[in-house]
Parts: sequence; C-alpha cells; structure tokens
Amino acid sequence: MTPSDLKFDQRHIWHPYTSMTDPLPTYPVVSATGVELVLSDGHTLIDGMSSWWAAIHGYNHPALNEAAKSQIDKMSHVMFGGITHPPAVDLCRQLVAMTPDALECVFLADSGSVAVEVALKMALQYWQAKGEKRHRFLTLRHGYHGDTFGAMSVCDPDNAMHNLYKGYLPNHLFADAPQCSFGDEWKAEDIDSLKRLLRQYHTEIAAVVLEPIVQGAGGMRIYHPEYLRQVRQLCDEYQLVLIADEIATGFGRTGKLFACEHAQIAPDILCLGKALTGGYMTLSATLTTRHIAETISQGEAGCFMHGPTFMGNPLACAVASASLKLLVDSPWQQRIQAIEAQLNVELFPLKSHSLVNDVRVLGAIGVVEMKQPVNVAALQHYFVQQGVWIRPFGRLIYLMPPYIIQPEQLSKLTNAIAGAIN
Ligand code: PMP
Repeated sequence: MTPSDLKFDQRHIWHPYTSMTDPLPTYPVVSATGVELVLSDGHTLIDGMSSWWAAIHGYNHPALNEAAKSQIDKMSHVMFGGITHPPAVDLCRQLVAMTPDALECVFLADSGSVAVEVALKMALQYWQAKGEKRHRFLTLRHGYHGDTFGAMSVCDPDNAMHNLYKGYLPNHLFADAPQCSFGDEWKAEDIDSLKRLLRQYHTEIAAVVLEPIVQGAGGMRIYHPEYLRQVRQLCDEYQLVLIADEIATGFGRTGKLFACEHAQIAPDILCLGKALTGGYMTLSATLTTRHIAETISQGEAGCFMHGPTFMGNPLACAVASASLKLLVDSPWQQRIQAIEAQLNVELFPLKSHSLVNDVRVLGAIGVVEMKQPVNVAALQHYFVQQGVWIRPFGRLIYLMPPYIIQPEQLSKLTNAIAGAIN
C-alpha cells in the first residue's frame, strides 16, 4: 500500500471506535498465513487476537480456502426464501449435532449483532404467541452483545453506549455483574442482585440474556460457573427463556466447545458467530428449541419475522461447515490446554507488578488488566516493533491467539506484553 492509500484511508474510511478527525493509526496488512500477518513493508506480526476471536485455525488455511473456492465455482449466493442448498443443510446438521440436544432449530444470519437481535425477537415472539405481554430483558452489568439497537439495549448501561442513545434504547433490567471469578470460592450472595430483580419483575421479563463464563468487550471478566448454573435454575423456576450469547466464547475458546459446558447447562436460545466461519467471513447462527420454534410458529404471524437478504449465504456456510469439521477433527482440547498452561506460566508473574490490577486466564484467553487505561497508539506501536499484533482497549491488554499457535510464538506475545509493562 502506498502513502497515498494510507492518506485516503485516514481521510475517508471509518475504522471501529476511533475518531474521523484524529484517528488511531492503522497498519497496512497485505496478507496473512498461519498465525502471521504480513505488513505492506514485508514485516510480519505474530497474531495474538485471532481477528477478534474469529480466526481460530489461523489465516489462509488450505482446507478453508478449498471450501471457499469450490463453493464459488458452484454459486456464491442464492436467496434463502423458498430455496435451500447443501452448504446450509450441511452446516446446520453439524451445529445441531454439536450443541446441546434440545437446540434443534437454526436461524442463519449475517453477524453476531444480528444473531442477538434474532434471539431477542424470538423471545418476544414466543411470549406474544403465548398471549403474554413481556417486553423486558434481564441481563448483566459489564455485558456486551453487539452494536445494533436491540443488542446495544442489553449491553452494560455505563460503559457502553446507553448515555449516547438515551431515549432510543428500551429500559431493560441490569443485575450486578458476577464478582466471583472462575476458580475462586463460590459466594452465594454473588447472585442476590439477579435474584432480587427476578423476584420483582419476572412477570415482565421475556428472557435473561448473558455471555456465559466470559464477559468479553465489557471487561474481559471470567466468572464462576456456579453463577451460570444458578441462572439456569432460576430461569427454570420462573419459566423464563435463557439466551446464551456464545458469539465470542463458542467453538472451544474457553477450553470447552461452548462455555455453557463449564456449568453443564443448556440455554433455550444460543447465539453463535465470529469463529463460526474460522474467521473467513461474517455469518451467525441462532439456535433454539423445537418448543420455542413451534410456539412462535403458532403465534399471530404464523412465522418468525426476520429474513435477511444474505440469510444462509452458501459461501459462508460452506466455509463454516469446513471450519467446524476442521475443529472437531483437530486435537483442539490439547491445543487449548497447552495455550492455557503457557499463558498461566508466562502472564501470572505480571500480577505482582505495580501497574497491573489483575491477570486472568481461561482456555486460550489471557488478560492483563492494568490499573490505568493504556495509551493504545503508543502500545500498538511498541507491539508492532516487537513483531506482534496485540490490540489493547481501556485498561486491558489481552491475548486470544489462533489455536494453532506454537509455544515460541506464544512466548513472543507474552514477552511483548511483559516488555511493554516493564
Ligand atoms: N456478542 C458478543 C459476546 C460479542 O463479543 C460480539 C462482538 N464483539 C457480538 C455479540 C457482536 O458480534 P458482531 O460484531 O459480529 O456483530
């Protein structure tokens, strides 16, 4: 890329969560293979981000490339209204088989945020079909579920966008975020806030929505499985729908195929995205039970009211299908256990550093929480000089590398973090 390309980019192209007048720098990447990103000047960076939880098999994978190429020669897209095709059936068959038994009905959509919109709408239509007016969602502080309006409305009200969109966002219910960390001793009072809200408002609530075990963009918080187990129990008690947003945690990232498995629970609605296509392109899936799907179908509309243009995109389904096969045929558990063990050894010593507030590790996720917000531009510049790609935010410097990362590559990432802090 030429300097004029970069100038054009700065002047005309929005990048996520940065200013159009004083944008954070962008680094020109021209290709990526395995766990390495290649910059336009030829420098390579070890990828610590998996492109935001997505590229679990690394980049430019021969099996995924082949799936995309062979599907492109058949058809890239065809409408899903009144038509079906092998890539969608193949993918959904795998999703139904690998998720909890009760989740049988799959809705394919464009992105994680849309999967959350779909889940919220499913819960609303479910209650409508049962003849009950329930318009509120109960969720957790520090949650993050996406950037569209429904999804935003269930994001943390303080550190997300609620203030900016006051008046546009519906008024949902927010329980205190779990305080007991994964691996800590469970304290019964951790769930009191959620219990109180349920007791008071359960007749108005359409569903409880949460990210199981790991709250991602809302703070990279890793909480106790007992919390999740009790949420499931309470939803059963009050006969409420439980929506699990596994868009970030799904497909092995936390050491289990799905984070709900840490608590041995199944949600009524499950949102998947990100790693679904191995990070190749955008696609999401919202799975639900036959009971919910049939109840919705018996309601006033007679169907679920959502149908995006690119629903079930064959190209994305073909790559997703190949990605899931690749995952289940790989020794992903051992790989993630090895990453977890190494992150524990190499990141935990930072916990005692005077600038560090906390270090957290679960599966292939390693988080260093600083006491103060970091200077993203300066830190990224340092990381790129060290030959690694790590994108901090707020007070968090974190890693979620592709599962195929080798020990010496992972050490390069953790050394860069230690170097930056020291
Ligand atoms: N839910 C969670 C838990 C997420 O982490 C994200 C993305 N960061 C989303 C939903 C939204 O997904 P997308 O960016 O694909 O719309």
